[in-house]
Amino acid sequence: MIKDNLQEVERRITAACERAGRNRDEVLLVAVSKTKPVEMLRCAYDAGTRNFGENKPQEIKEKYPLMEKDVKWHMIGHLQRNKIKYIIDKVCMIHSVDSVRLAEAINEEAEKHGIVMPVLVEVNVAREASKYGIMPEETETFIRQISVFSHICVQGLMTIAPFTENPEENRGYFRDLYKLYVDIKAKNIDNVNMCNLSMGMTGDYEVAIEEGATMVRVGTGIFGERFYSLT
Ligand SMILES: *Cc1c(COP(=O)(O)O)cnc(C)c1O
Repeated sequence: MIKDNLQEVERRITAACERAGRNRDEVLLVAVSKTKPVEMLRCAYDAGTRNFGENKPQEIKEKYPLMEKDVKWHMIGHLQRNKIKYIIDKVCMIHSVDSVRLAEAINEEAEKHGIVMPVLVEVNVAREASKYGIMPEETETFIRQISVFSHICVQGLMTIAPFTENPEENRGYFRDLYKLYVDIKAKNIDNVNMCNLSMGMTGDYEVAIEEGATMVRVGTGIFGERFYSLT
């Protein structure tokens, strides 16, 4: 089942890339495995998946030793500063940086481990009161502020678009975020390497790819519905 789902997602990603005149290798599929048991991650792994997304430090900590060492773990959820220490040496990227204090704390932990952590800045592109993230007009200033930290490297933007039945409703938000991404990239800010745009989930990843996503985060479409923990 997971293997079939992956094939279907892969087919749709390829088709979306073709429609947009993009190469398939410009888009990374992150399989969002939060709340799912390791057996299911293993099925995806056996079918070729290497990039997994999780939103809870505790869950990464538990799953990490049970999976192969070539798995790349992506922290995609809201992160509390006191939990950074559990994941700093396990994840390849943190997609959800939304405050200077968080960036500073990641920087400190990364320094202790002698690494530079790639991070994305979460942008609240639809200005939803319920969502985390930096407002679009504050994003450049925010990136300039956190670019001074030498043990993190800002590598792009991330957003969680509104939940909707109709993905076309999010096209404008994806387009806005792509514009912001290109604008900030053009500023060539020191210690910032704008090369990733993480947007698109099960309901809207094809539209996100058409609008320039370089990473899509797909959970339900691969692993099926989640029956507990909505976050
Ligand atoms: C859960 C989650 C996803 C995946 O959502 P699906 O709709 O199941 O594909 C993607 N991004 C983030 C940040 C999430 O928390």
